[in-house]
Amino acid sequence: MITFRKTKAGKWVAYGPYTELKDSEGGEIEVTLKSGKTTTRKCVGLGKPFMAKGCQMVYAYLDDRGNHGGSRSKGGRRCEECGSTRGVHLAYDLSGIPGYACYRCDDGTLSFA
Ligand SMILES: [Zn+2]
Repeated sequence: MITFRKTKAGKWVAYGPYTELKDSEGGEIEVTLKSGKTTTRKCVGLGKPFMAKGCQMVYAYLDDRGNHGGSRSKGGRRCEECGSTRGVHLAYDLSGIPGYACYRCDDGTLSFA
């Protein structure tokens, strides 16, 4: 099963067994949210596989369109927490619910529910 993980750098990645993710670079992967629902994400690259609990696991980096700071292509996107328009990007809250948040609010304690 592939799930979302937040890296130390504060970036959301997909995390799952290397056997499931090894061929997914450039393709789409199905990620399971904490709610049990699945969402499809484009995988732009894989991290280095590593062992966890006896399995070979890997992080898959996702096409995070909101992460290109200063993008003007889709104006009017606001942080759902504070309404800021600066550094707003697609984020996932503690329940795995996607929403838009600014970098200030995306501190790991978001709740879009
Ligand atoms: Zn905010």
